[in-house]
Amino acid sequence: MFGAVVVGLGIAGSVRIRDMLAPFPGSAAEKLIVKGFISRRALGPQQGVEQVSVEDALSRDDVNVAFVCTENESHEENVRQFIEAGKHVCVEYPMTLSYKAAVDLWDLAEEKGMILHEEHIELFTADFKWLKEKVQGQKLQEGTLHFTGGSLKPRFGFLAFSGIARLTWLVDLFGELTVSDAAFEEKPGDGYSKMTAKLLTADNRPLTWIEERGPGLPRAKNINFRFDSFTLTEIPPPASRGAVGLFMQDLVNFGAKVSGQVPPEEMEQEKRRILHCLSLAQEYKTSASNNP
Ligand code: NAD
Repeated sequence: MFGAVVVGLGIAGSVRIRDMLAPFPGSAAEKLIVKGFISRRALGPQQGVEQVSVEDALSRDDVNVAFVCTENESHEENVRQFIEAGKHVCVEYPMTLSYKAAVDLWDLAEEKGMILHEEHIELFTADFKWLKEKVQGQKLQEGTLHFTGGSLKPRFGFLAFSGIARLTWLVDLFGELTVSDAAFEEKPGDGYSKMTAKLLTADNRPLTWIEERGPGLPRAKNINFRFDSFTLTEIPPPASRGAVGLFMQDLVNFGAKVSGQVPPEEMEQEKRRILHCLSLAQEYKTSASNNP
């Protein structure tokens, strides 16, 4: 059994507690026992779980695992201190707001013999599973993924990092990508920002990834993927959302990792995909700061 603390009690942190209190029966999620949560605010017990201090969580022997569910800006610092203290870490995506920091954290986790896991619930969605099935074995000609959503919350980082879930979709569907070009637009006073990122697949097929955030914009993904014999322009509503929630599926996966049930090759492949996506995000961020 692994005692766990949840750092950051927003939407994701509250779901983590809820799921650990009622894990999917018979799954590896049952190995994770919530011992407390950490918040910057002084809160009473939440869902019956006590607040603990960071120092307490870092030093307690019955705490073996931390869930880092804070705003993106503080992921790096939180992940580092828990790994240094010899705890396994599950961090909500994106792991960090820089590629180099992610490489350093992974090196540290390996040195300490700790599991470092980045949550990617977007890969469990019915939308993604539908797309993955359609794309299987097809030859892409060109494609666009245009994400829109409300204004980015403060402390969530540059668009290419906060939107890493969309980039992960593209990499999982079409393989490793290279950056070809990018354009950025920002109206800070209005809470509006837009990134138009151009990518190339290994066989030089163009992909465009747009992240557009602003007040009143609907949370939506618009696609246009052209293959040799057909074009996908929309994702139909899922027939069913599945019996196991998205965060619960991630919890089962993380529970299996800390229990030694996931083959090292599988974890290595996942690490490679995560670092590849973060390296692309870094290239866009660098390019944005060079062309303000
Ligand atoms: P949120 O704003 O609801 O929650 C963030 C919480 O972290 C806040 O309560 C804040 O007070 C707390 N916090 C920040 N720094 C802290 C610190 N140093 N110590 C303790 N608490 C601290 O945000 P959210 O939607 O829950 O997102 C959190 C993370 O989960 C982000 O990295 C996000 O990318 C990821 N994520 C969220 C969802 C989702 O559906 N909400 C899905 C996938 C990934």
